[in-house]
Amino acid sequence: MSHQHFETVAIHAGQEPDALTGAVVPPIHQVSTYKQDGVGGLRGGYEYSRSANPTRTALEENLAALEGGSRGLAFASGLAAEDCLLRTMLSPGDHIVIPNDAYGGTFRLFAKVAERWGVQWSVADTSDPASIRGALRDTTRAVWVETPSNPLLGITDIAMVADITRSAGARLVVDNTFASPYLQQPLALGADVVVHSTTKYMGGHSDVVGGALVTSDAAFGEELAFHQNAMGAIAGPFDAWLVLRGVKTLAVRMDRHSANAARIAEALAAHPKVAEVFYPGLESHAGHEIAAKQMRSFGGMVSFRVAGGEEAAVEVCNRAELFILGESLGGVESLIEHPGRMTHASVAGSALEVPSDLVRLSVGIESVDDLLADLTAALG
Ligand SMILES: *Cc1c(COP(=O)(O)O)cnc(C)c1O
Repeated sequence: MSHQHFETVAIHAGQEPDALTGAVVPPIHQVSTYKQDGVGGLRGGYEYSRSANPTRTALEENLAALEGGSRGLAFASGLAAEDCLLRTMLSPGDHIVIPNDAYGGTFRLFAKVAERWGVQWSVADTSDPASIRGALRDTTRAVWVETPSNPLLGITDIAMVADITRSAGARLVVDNTFASPYLQQPLALGADVVVHSTTKYMGGHSDVVGGALVTSDAAFGEELAFHQNAMGAIAGPFDAWLVLRGVKTLAVRMDRHSANAARIAEALAAHPKVAEVFYPGLESHAGHEIAAKQMRSFGGMVSFRVAGGEEAAVEVCNRAELFILGESLGGVESLIEHPGRMTHASVAGSALEVPSDLVRLSVGIESVDDLLADLTAALG
């Protein structure tokens, strides 16, 4: 990371005013190919927009700076980024440890796709060193961590897992989507590569689907870039531009997301119709101290169990009005959902199954008083 602070880097890294016009925002280079000055005479290194495009380069440099890495790569979605990562670092016969609470699509990618190509996986509680050690094999090439995790907001000590993976000769992957680099920087804590769904907090406005990988290992970064070009699931110029625009306000948005979520978690914890609240900012949360150590604040995601069971939880989702019923997270508007029937339907019956009475909130940046009034009405 440069000597500048996060807020400044977010607005300026990778983005000089346009050399031709002085435009302060990078243009959307909506173009597929570039004129060569004689065969092989590339101006500025651009040849074909799958391989590289100037708007995507601006985003990739920005992402690398925000995570304190040396190489950032932008993809068409978070899952496209994950797919590129797993095919770069794993071969048939290799093994990976995945977390027992994770984004449902990540689990599906390993269980339903990678497994067919001979990649072996097992599940561990990544907050527990004994569970990770117990899952390691001679063929383990990577350990995958999501912290805070989706949807139970579990916390994993990144530095602790980095020690274990390093001595096992494996790589540590951290999905930093829930925290964003403003709240947590896994590479500085020993992770080898960071994964993002930029669809979420990085984009921040529910108007783009995108993904990213960032590493501080230059040679591994080259391998990832080779696979990004060879496989082709790149972020298009307009999508890259939207994420760049979102990132400029990441710091102020995350501060408000965290403040609103903290108020809501406290109110839910005191509500008679709520059985249990999952928010790492609550002192009662099992991962509170580790979260306080490795995160700037506790983020905008809150989950809770409804005392009346599954039907009551579904009713709360249906009755909410300001909280929009929908999948995804990380936008300025608040969302509510039932993970068991929506985002996490694909993990039903697996080690990653979620409680049926669980409701997940993506707390937006509206007035917290309006959000609290809506939730209170929805709880009935
Ligand atoms: C959404 C999400 C993904 C997948 O990203 P897409 O952009 O939807 O492909 C991966 N990890 C986490 C934690 C997510 O929330």
